[in-house]
Amino acid sequence: MSSWVIQYASPNAGRVAWHRIISSGRKHYPSFSYRNGGYAVLGCSHRRVFRMTTTITNTTIVTCDPQRAVYYGAGMAIDEGRIAAIGPSDEIEARYPDADRVDGRGHAVFPGMVNCHTHMLATADRGILEDFGFPTTLRFPTTGRGLLDPEERNVFSLLATAESIRSGGTTLLEISDSIPQYADSLADAGLRLFLAENFNDIDDEQFGAGRYEFSEAKLEAGLQRSADLISSWHGRHNERVQCFVAAHAPELCSPALLRSAVEMADRHGLRYTIHLSQSPLEVEGVMRTRGVRPTQYL
Ligand SMILES: [Zn+2]
Repeated sequence: MSSWVIQYASPNAGRVAWHRIISSGRKHYPSFSYRNGGYAVLGCSHRRVFRMTTTITNTTIVTCDPQRAVYYGAGMAIDEGRIAAIGPSDEIEARYPDADRVDGRGHAVFPGMVNCHTHMLATADRGILEDFGFPTTLRFPTTGRGLLDPEERNVFSLLATAESIRSGGTTLLEISDSIPQYADSLADAGLRLFLAENFNDIDDEQFGAGRYEFSEAKLEAGLQRSADLISSWHGRHNERVQCFVAAHAPELCSPALLRSAVEMADRHGLRYTIHLSQSPLEVEGVMRTRGVRPTQYL
């Protein structure tokens, strides 16, 4: 089974969104779409570019409009990368007789999925860490992703973007501590991206010995990494790439870091994110150091 992604302007929501259709009836290839309406098709021995109007008919269209309407046996016309019409299949076919036709029978067209928290380089940990509980980083001196060099980070991030698109994901919030090394690979895939440089100020040596102490130098370095990412990436690719501020996790962040993270987000007009209640260790640690549970601490 192959798939492709169509970017379109939703007439109801008044904003650009993405749709994906799954097709096994005709030969299509995983592809990345661009706002100019061209479709670069990957995964095949030749590059095929769709520029003409395309219709998808006899399919199920899940709109996610305010009424949550779902149309069955319906048709859609896509023109210059945007949805031009939705209606009964015969009407769509009559209105666009010269279109590149796709029979969507047995398949569905639906909005692209939003992955609101991911670590793309964790593809390098797949099959290694799953059996060891969480948080695994406390059981091992490093992780698979921690051993990757910059070139390998690009390879694994490309693998992750391809899997994401193939699975219907079109928007990602990527959280990592080395994003500039592979941000170009993520962005070139055509995804809508939110990038967040992860930072904490826990003193690693003390933490390894079970003590919660915090490092001002580490706080400053993390803030600088986040600021650098924002200045170099926020708004790139016609606003398709934006940034978040990401304090790492409650037990690993001092009150000063949490305040600084929020201030940075406010200063740049950005949103922020944090891990929360990931593990018993986190809850125990925050209870011990702050006297409250993680959510109350935040
Ligand atoms: Zn995470």
